[in-house]
Amino acid sequence: MVEGKWTLGLESTAHTLSFGLVDPNGIPYASKSASVRPDEGGIHPRKAAEHHSEHVGRILQEILETQDLTIQDIGLMAFSQGPGLAPCLRAGAAAARSVASLRNIPLIGVNHCVAHIEIGRQQCGCVDPVLLYASGGNTQIIARLEGRYRVLGETLDIGIGNMLDKFARVHGIPFPGGPVIEKLANNWVEEHPDCSLVDYSLPYVVQGMDLAFSGLLTAAVNMVSRGAPLEAVCWSLQEHAFAACIEVAERALAHTGKDELLLGGGVACNERLRNMSEIMCQERGGKSFVPAKMYCIDNGTMIARLGWLEWQSGRETSIIESGINQNLRTDDTPIVWA
Ligand code: AMP
Ligand code: MG
Repeated sequence: MVEGKWTLGLESTAHTLSFGLVDPNGIPYASKSASVRPDEGGIHPRKAAEHHSEHVGRILQEILETQDLTIQDIGLMAFSQGPGLAPCLRAGAAAARSVASLRNIPLIGVNHCVAHIEIGRQQCGCVDPVLLYASGGNTQIIARLEGRYRVLGETLDIGIGNMLDKFARVHGIPFPGGPVIEKLANNWVEEHPDCSLVDYSLPYVVQGMDLAFSGLLTAAVNMVSRGAPLEAVCWSLQEHAFAACIEVAERALAHTGKDELLLGGGVACNERLRNMSEIMCQERGGKSFVPAKMYCIDNGTMIARLGWLEWQSGRETSIIESGINQNLRTDDTPIVWA
């Protein structure tokens, strides 16, 4: 990368295509994004990839305009190499290779999950946190140990966001369902301040340090079909799913002796999850950190930031190594930066 140039990050692991920038000193700037919002059903990987390819030129132009830059100001091209939906990853990787080749600048493929952690650390100023990464496709509790971000616990079936989206879809609420479930749950609490979880009890699934959400989803759907109010079940669903995540996160703090908990991923936009994290950390003398919502959801800026960090530490991805890896694990990536 040439001195004084910016890093461009491209995110395309699932529903969102996003470009973001960090300046020559690694300072992040807001992303520009386009997301697929299917009218019905879930995300179709090939259709999402087509969406990304269709919008990539426009979003690239828009992000450069936000900082009054031209493509000549870009000195490093970072992209999400995995994990994610293969067709979506391929669409992003192809666009990133084109920009790098066209401009004759270095390319760097980064781990999407690690990017969530690093943008959170940068935004919140925490040093060595346990991360609760709660997104559509991923739910992991992660901590930095011996040169890697280790997965201490994770979902054994579907991601927590996926579970919320599927529950919403069954009840006619389009993707993304999480924010609507949050509103419905809030309505219920406002109208029923004394309501009891016992009346709307659902499975609570913590297995050792791992989690599972598909049984909870089925039980919640059944509860509504047996006549329970949708708002009440939304509330109960959040309480059960979030408490399970926070319990495992607390155990991770206890095991590792760390005292910072960082939330990341789209579900970390949820105020109740933020609030539970705050309470748990306060009770054990720790601290809870949550980045601004635009850095919780998938965004190109986090990709640019991690690309910049890895570049500073001497990493680069050749065209030959730039193939995507849909199954890339959080702990596959050696931490070569501070
Ligand atoms: P991500 O995969 O990290 O981009 O996040 C997308 C997921 O976050 C989707 O499953 C959304 O339903 C979920 N999500 C976004 N906002 C909220 C919210 N306020 N409460 C719960 N889930 C949310
Ligand atoms: Mg994500």
